[in-house]
Amino acid sequence: MSNKTEWILEEIAGLKQAGLYTTIRTIDSPMDAWVTIDGRELLNFCANNYLGLANHPRLRVAAQEAINSFGVGPGAVRTIAGTMSLHIQLEQRLAEFKRAEACISFQSGFCANLATIPALVGKGDVIFSDELNHASIIDGCRLSRANVVRYNHNDPADLRRKVAETKDFGRRLIVTDGVFSMDGDIAPLDEICLVAEENDILIMVDDAHGEGVLGKGGRGIVDHFDLHGRVDVEVGTLSKAFGVVGGMVAGKQVIVDWLRQRGRPFLFSSAMTVPDTAACIEAVNLLEESTELVDRLWENAAIFRDGLQIMGFDTGFSQTPIVPVMLGEAPLAQDFSHQLLKNGIFAMAIGFPTVPRGKARIRVMNSAAHSSADLEEALDIFGKVGRALGVIS
Ligand SMILES: *Cc1c(COP(=O)(O)O)cnc(C)c1O
Repeated sequence: MSNKTEWILEEIAGLKQAGLYTTIRTIDSPMDAWVTIDGRELLNFCANNYLGLANHPRLRVAAQEAINSFGVGPGAVRTIAGTMSLHIQLEQRLAEFKRAEACISFQSGFCANLATIPALVGKGDVIFSDELNHASIIDGCRLSRANVVRYNHNDPADLRRKVAETKDFGRRLIVTDGVFSMDGDIAPLDEICLVAEENDILIMVDDAHGEGVLGKGGRGIVDHFDLHGRVDVEVGTLSKAFGVVGGMVAGKQVIVDWLRQRGRPFLFSSAMTVPDTAACIEAVNLLEESTELVDRLWENAAIFRDGLQIMGFDTGFSQTPIVPVMLGEAPLAQDFSHQLLKNGIFAMAIGFPTVPRGKARIRVMNSAAHSSADLEEALDIFGKVGRALGVIS
């Protein structure tokens, strides 16, 4: 027998021993407030389905109707044969919604970062990157072959210092997540923007967890801080609050035009599918018509965070509907998650290396899809499990 792959078995055994092997649950239902796992209905606090759009009747109908008119696949990469009127319509609607000059869509948020960063900087250039930035930003930076200078998390003073210290650069780019997905804290984009302006540096924010969440009616972090026209590149995802799958870049017309020429996932990978694109257009329509879903998301998040805090849980630095329940050591977080599952709640334990050692947690993802009864039931169960495991008294 060949031993070419033996090392993989050893690596996997190591992960299992360290409690770091990821078990992937299978969902046998639509992604919604409740999901079916192994035949049981569970209250879902894992999904990034902030607004409950993943199974929204209007998005389902929009996708079905688009299939009837356009089929399912885009047929090619967009520069060759894959740009349909639907893609153009989505980009125009997103640009209007976000009050940006222009917008370009990608197959995912991950692709949007891989397309954008290497199109803007290369060898001999420098990127200033928050130390907790998302993996897709890190990979985009690596692909670009620019120098990466990491600054302390959400620390504009450290950024300013590092910008001043860094000599011998070509072009420069500052990049940060908008909302950090493990703590639910928000980047001080207004202050970061000042550093960029003082030094004439391109600024890019990846607002994956802020899209459809922050700003008026979910218009994102640039709207939240009222920085319209001042942030060069706003990356977003259509896979979280928008409930579908896809990515986008909104910002200056000239940058969007450049990405159509030089964004490699745009040039060499096929476009978003027909039903995805149509469902996303309908999501923009919904968000433009009413702020009801976004308002309910924030109300639900406040109820849940307050409820946890009143019981004595530590919810860390959360400023958004992402609410970490800080537990300390990874085995306790694992145990907590298992107990929640037994009691009917699907909520993820997160430990090292995703978060630092000793900062393991349950990450609660709130959603407008949850009813008040759902929240009440979930808080009861968190209290019961917390007392049983001695986390609260
Ligand atoms: C989730 C996430 C992405 C990836 O988005 P997808 O559309 O799922 O590929 C990129 N950046 C950040 C900050 C994210 O949180």
